[in-house]
Amino acid sequence: MPVGTLASVKGVSQDVLEELGVQILLGNTYHLYLRPGVEQVRKLGGLHRFMAWPRAILTDSGGFQVFSLNDLRKVTEEGVTFRSHLDGSSHFFSPESAMEAQIGLGADIIMAFDECTEHPADAERTRASMELTLRWAERSKRHFEEHKDEVPWRTGQVGTAALGCPGERSSPVGNQEISANQEPAEQSSARQPGAAVSTQALFGIVQGGMDLALRKESAERTIEIGFPGYAIGGLSVGEPRALTREVVESTLEHLPADKPRYLMGVGTPEEIVEYANLGIDMMDCVLPTRAARHGLLFTSEGKISIKQARYAGDKAPLDPNCGCRVCRRYSRAYLRHLYASNEVLAQVLNTVHNLSFYLDTMRAVRHSISLGKETGSSCV
Ligand SMILES: [Zn+2]
Repeated sequence: MPVGTLASVKGVSQDVLEELGVQILLGNTYHLYLRPGVEQVRKLGGLHRFMAWPRAILTDSGGFQVFSLNDLRKVTEEGVTFRSHLDGSSHFFSPESAMEAQIGLGADIIMAFDECTEHPADAERTRASMELTLRWAERSKRHFEEHKDEVPWRTGQVGTAALGCPGERSSPVGNQEISANQEPAEQSSARQPGAAVSTQALFGIVQGGMDLALRKESAERTIEIGFPGYAIGGLSVGEPRALTREVVESTLEHLPADKPRYLMGVGTPEEIVEYANLGIDMMDCVLPTRAARHGLLFTSEGKISIKQARYAGDKAPLDPNCGCRVCRRYSRAYLRHLYASNEVLAQVLNTVHNLSFYLDTMRAVRHSISLGKETGSSCV
């Protein structure tokens, strides 16, 4: 999932994202809550309509961003008080308000409000944080169940046709796009035969730090609460990569394989292949887009820092094995010139290529998985 923090994948328009084959985008609740504000997005028909994106959207709960604020936040049982990074104003997120915000934004998949445990953390602190996330998961689900009909794209239809009118869809077409590969299970289970698919899917988040026993317990107790998909949170927080892999592999054993399993906040092209092969279905990362804006490009021949003078006279395409619109048309020399001259187009083209490279990487993974299934061998 490319990251579209503020209802925009920086530098790339929605029509280009569609052409690249992006099926689902991630939006950040914390940022959208501050600007332009949830109520504004709701009044404009929800995130899909606001940003003219008919495919699927996932929003995070705001928890991770708030926890990244460090000095600007205070955590209690009730929730988190934090100061805006924009103007220092004080705000409060709880499981209930995080659900309210995400229902107001109206993404297809929304996330329970959790506490991302810092690293390193001792055993006592890790358990206390995991227990808090479990209590918050229950509160998130309870609030969601009570208010799930309040999504912007159901407004005016609650209690009437939307509650089961055969063949009618009031939700964005995004659900259809994602369902081709992995349909959020709650939509299946909640759907009556012939009824409309018209609520969001709320995913739970497994925490437990780097402690494998706590991860198992967190997974089991989150499954007990019951969600249509499960995320592994609290990784990529500064721990060594080998440890990330160990925790992912171990946690996956305790998560149902027939529901989407989402690893939050990873990773490099090599890592996303590795985690997909372990059984992860969904990932998000700012890396391809953020790195692109800094001139760091991922290619089939390794990483390229396009700012380097060695590319000044290089007529070759950025990646000879990439078929994206950038590699088909421009030379490394031109991309290097754009970057060195601080042209806006440098950010646009670099981002298009990096996204294309990531999406191609995942297409190749899906292809190899389907071949594995077709030939009857065990899935990778
Ligand atoms: Zn390319």
